[in-house]
Amino acid sequence: MATNILQTSLMYLRNVGAKRAETLKKEIGVETWEDLLYYFPYKYIDRSRIFKIREIDGNMPYIQLKGKIRSYEYLGEGSSRRLKAVFYDDTGTIDLVWFRMLKQIPNLYQVGTEYILFGKPSVFGNRYNVVHPELEQESKFYDGEVGTQGQYNTTEKMKQGFLHSRVLQKLIAQILETVPSPIPETLPEHLVAKLHLPSLDMALRNIHFPKSPETLRYAEYRLKLEELFYIQLNILRVTKYRKQRLGGFRFQTVGEYFNRFYSKNLPFELTNAQKRVVREIRRDTNSGRQMNRLLQGDVGSGKTLVALLSLLLALDNGFQGAIMAPTEILANQHYETLTSLLQGLNIEIALLTGSTKKKEREIILPKLKSGEIQLLIGTHALLEDTVDFNNLGLIVVDEQHRFGVAQRAKLWKKNAVAPHVLVMTATPIPRTLAMTLYGDLDVSVIDELPPGRKPVKTIHIYSERRQNLYASVRRQLQAGRQVYIVYPLIEESEKSDMENLEAGFEQTKQIFSEYRVGMVHGKMKASEKDEEMQRFVSRQTQILVATTVIEVGVNVPNASVMIIENAERFGLSQLHQLRGRVGRGADQSVCILLTRYELSENARRRIAIMTETNDGFLIAEEDLKLRGPGDIDGTQQSGVAFHLKIADLTHDSQILAQARDVAQEILDDDPFLEKPQNTLLLQQLNKLNSEHQMGWFMIS
Ligand code: ADP
Ligand code: MG
Repeated sequence: MATNILQTSLMYLRNVGAKRAETLKKEIGVETWEDLLYYFPYKYIDRSRIFKIREIDGNMPYIQLKGKIRSYEYLGEGSSRRLKAVFYDDTGTIDLVWFRMLKQIPNLYQVGTEYILFGKPSVFGNRYNVVHPELEQESKFYDGEVGTQGQYNTTEKMKQGFLHSRVLQKLIAQILETVPSPIPETLPEHLVAKLHLPSLDMALRNIHFPKSPETLRYAEYRLKLEELFYIQLNILRVTKYRKQRLGGFRFQTVGEYFNRFYSKNLPFELTNAQKRVVREIRRDTNSGRQMNRLLQGDVGSGKTLVALLSLLLALDNGFQGAIMAPTEILANQHYETLTSLLQGLNIEIALLTGSTKKKEREIILPKLKSGEIQLLIGTHALLEDTVDFNNLGLIVVDEQHRFGVAQRAKLWKKNAVAPHVLVMTATPIPRTLAMTLYGDLDVSVIDELPPGRKPVKTIHIYSERRQNLYASVRRQLQAGRQVYIVYPLIEESEKSDMENLEAGFEQTKQIFSEYRVGMVHGKMKASEKDEEMQRFVSRQTQILVATTVIEVGVNVPNASVMIIENAERFGLSQLHQLRGRVGRGADQSVCILLTRYELSENARRRIAIMTETNDGFLIAEEDLKLRGPGDIDGTQQSGVAFHLKIADLTHDSQILAQARDVAQEILDDDPFLEKPQNTLLLQQLNKLNSEHQMGWFMIS
């Protein structure tokens, strides 16, 4: 059967093999023929025209030339070692440059053979060159490779494994030739007809190999609508289920704990935004329905206090409460903050993380079961099956934008009645995204910072001029302030990133030799990391050299300077999150973005936005716009993790609205999708959910 063929592993596709199949799986999560068919081009280029070398100008995003290689030459030493070739046609010559595969290239592309060259021209010295061009003999071109061409995202590792965009395209062509036509429909006939959509078969063939710009648009529309439609269908179904089935605990009284804390322990007046959100939560938790609320508030807006007040409401009504944090550092910090804030209230608090000793667990777990422990703070360890509450009334999930139905279902199992859930995040989700991803959550926003905060001043400095920086940093240190220095560390370039980090650490120790410098990164053991963090928190170290492990939630009000090295390598949301680590005290804080001199258009824009605004929502919107496709590595790094294969929430909001209407109509007519004409919908939903393809589903 055709569906089975599509489930075939890519290992069994000609020209792939085990190693490349593994790379595809690891790098882009593509395992089967079907996965690859759903790996869509991120852009299209017109390859119908071949240019002459004389015609090249510096503004062309890419060119296609026909010519021959005249000669090869090796240049440079060490990391700047490269291979240069002279390529010519009857109008002139350009240089081709390679930094990798230096040995193999001259064998792959022979001197004197005619090639079609494709690549991005750039200027070097007074000559044009093309770095890592694609070269192919014209006779080896296959049908469909001359008109509108799809371009596919690839990562560094894929390129190293010879999985370039063009190779992916060939593999897809191979699959399309092999599978029986038509590829089975994934939308019910009545929908295809009603919405005037092309068949799936037509859409998949044209999205990869467009017959014309019109068929391409038509194919895109179908695939986008389908993608958004299933998301909406899923969310609306879950929402309906929750509203109908999930009753909730009633927190009727505002009692002793809440009132005493509010009048005696609360160290400051709540902001109006905090008050409003507490009222919203109070209303929800007293409605008889289970609360699922997302609390968005920029870094430093005071979400913890809102969480605490909500938890006290639970306690006042005889329930237990819990806070779950994404890391041990944060869990510890919450534990300490809450313990000190709740002093004198006689509340039993415990901390449970992955590194809680067995002995200690054996004390905590029974007390939790008996209800003696009222407030449990921890990490994902809280969700383990062995953790049994007496009557968990509210769980607060901090700094998470991936707390999905799967995890929530685990909580539902912990009680006969599902506890209320409050998810807090500092990553503001743009409205369109919130509607898509958090369809079944109610949203509260803290849109006001506590009084007296001075917005962080953000400055962009080129790395070459870093010398100028040290004097002012030293002044801050002399005034008793602390400093973060952040380095990028991504898996792609882990080794050299690690070297950079350590070199930076050594250098910092030299430059600021009269101060103590600490270092934290994700490769350290949790306990070591915690110790280093603690040293910084308690001011034993004044400077902390770190990777983005300090990104989330850490609160050191005395730290007033953040220096971000290679800031061009961070996504916008990430930069904003990092910046939120400073500006938490009353002092004027600064964030310094160091970059190299040459920046891509996109990087320049990111840096500019950072220096212009502190508004997290604006930044999130911009991030969504800038995080264009074509840059997987960048996408994975940035704040909001979600994967849409083809739709784009900034541009496809109309299709999104249409998809939602269609889904709503269907569910109004057939809430449980029981009618025969909707069987396929149910099957598709189950398939998409079980494959975890719907990364977004994890979120809602
Ligand atoms: P986030 O929203 O990033 O989790 P926190 O809850 O950690 O922010 O709060 C940041 C800092 O602001 C903490 O030191 C907290 O004590 C302080 N804070 C919170 N609410 C107020 C308030 N209403 N007035 C003054 N300071 C506040
Ligand atoms: Mg926080």
